[in-house]
Amino acid sequence: MSFPRVALRPPLKRRCRLLGGLRCTAWLRACAPLGRGGGIASGVRGSCRYAWAIMESISVFDILKIGVGPSSSHTMGPWRAAQRFLDVCIARGVFASITSVTVHLFGSLAKTGKGHGTDFAVIMGLAGEDPVTCDVGQLPEIEKDVRARRRIGLRGAREIDFDPATQIVFHFAEVLAFHPNGLTFEATLANGEVVRETYFSVGGGFVVQEAQTQADERQRVRLPFPIEKAADLERYCEEQRASIPQIVMRNELMWRTQEQVREGLLQIWRAMRECVYRGCHTVGTLPGGLNVTRRAARLNHQLLGTANPLEGDSLGNTVPVVSDENVLAWMRAVRRDGQSTIAHTFQDTIKWVSTFALAVNEENAAFGRVVTAPTNGAAGVIPAVMMYAACFLQASDEQIIEFMLTAGEVGSLFKKGATISAAMGGCQAEIGVSSAMAAAGLAQIMGASPGQVQQAAEIAMEHHLGMTCDPIAGLVQIPCIERNTMGAIKAITAANIAVESDPTQAKVTLDGVIKTMWETAKDMQSKYKETAEGGLAVNISVSVSEC
Ligand code: SF4
Repeated sequence: MSFPRVALRPPLKRRCRLLGGLRCTAWLRACAPLGRGGGIASGVRGSCRYAWAIMESISVFDILKIGVGPSSSHTMGPWRAAQRFLDVCIARGVFASITSVTVHLFGSLAKTGKGHGTDFAVIMGLAGEDPVTCDVGQLPEIEKDVRARRRIGLRGAREIDFDPATQIVFHFAEVLAFHPNGLTFEATLANGEVVRETYFSVGGGFVVQEAQTQADERQRVRLPFPIEKAADLERYCEEQRASIPQIVMRNELMWRTQEQVREGLLQIWRAMRECVYRGCHTVGTLPGGLNVTRRAARLNHQLLGTANPLEGDSLGNTVPVVSDENVLAWMRAVRRDGQSTIAHTFQDTIKWVSTFALAVNEENAAFGRVVTAPTNGAAGVIPAVMMYAACFLQASDEQIIEFMLTAGEVGSLFKKGATISAAMGGCQAEIGVSSAMAAAGLAQIMGASPGQVQQAAEIAMEHHLGMTCDPIAGLVQIPCIERNTMGAIKAITAANIAVESDPTQAKVTLDGVIKTMWETAKDMQSKYKETAEGGLAVNISVSVSEC
């Protein structure tokens, strides 16, 4: 079916409803027969007959952000939604008169919400915890207290009755039309009125509302180099004779000073290293009832040649002392500083990269502090490749910053042109995108040209196309944890192929693979999109004990 192409019409008066009006990528494509700005509900995306092209302005800090596991869409998004709902109540002056709150989870949030900690996240958001600043070690206690007393301190201030068992409602058979990850908050006030808001967690921790008309602050920013497609980025690099991270940095300066960008990125890098370190020094069993044994610590000790691991509590869990000093000393040991004559074998290197990725995703599965990159289920790929660069290629902080700027831009290209939500596109949207981001970042610091960097991202995604999301028992553990090792190894392979290739000879472009990923996402059956109703989730018989 073909639709008439329409011209771009300034000024930008109407927002596409796609993803809450955050963007319209439609003007290059055809219009949907769904009326105003429709599209996503029918799976026909990027289509709007009004065609006001608003380029979404995404910062690298929107793509890489510090958070809490196990899922960006099912944990971080609902957490942020709960915070935003209370913000709305405060703004309307009704916060003080809330007598009860009920939360309704729909679609994928209901189907895999238990395993992904959606109820936990909603409780934390309502209780006033922030995913960036909270003490993650305290969170289980807070949840336990709320469940035991059936009371919650809204924002940590106003205590009301709240029984998560009955007031967080899982609507397993209902999916809201706008997006599979919908949730509605209802607050009953003392005068009997009800305040109701619905949010959609659209991947990577991003939360939107269907009727969102207020321009997001980020959206209002006019970037010097607006980038909608990979071809735009390459053109700017050519015109400006600049590298990809240089172009991205110039855009970032519209939000922050150069010093703030650098410091912010290094802080994220520290959070990633600490996460890897914690995972490499924690043994035991992951929560959720699958009884998955942590492996990163054992591998770490084997590779370092140190004696026996660690002692732990009754479950065998240990709490490592995480400090910058300890982390850097451990990285020196991984690098074998001072033993330069003993080179790492190929096997050792692969094992180390895998260990780094396993460490992050074991932490993620254990509701630990991670960096969403671009999602939590795929949070191990980029840190694993960055640790590889730091430990095995001696990458400097400057190169790490370049890596992150490059990777962040590639992530935003996928978010604009396809999706980073597994509920929309399966695991290709998570592990595939993170692998493409990591491949681009690594190629950049290996000296690749902008064309080669894009080729690295393209190669990495090309070999994740069609990958489904089928987490067993709805937990972000199997196949998720190991999948991060594969994503990291593929990223390293892709970068190495790209730096030896001529991108002008490439048959598949980055834009071409992004489009293909989105087409594949639309064709994928919904049971493979984070519902735990297909694939490994139904073919592997497991008994999940209550926990
Ligand atoms: S299978 Fe992939 S997309 Fe699905 S939860 Fe696991 S890591 Fe995320």
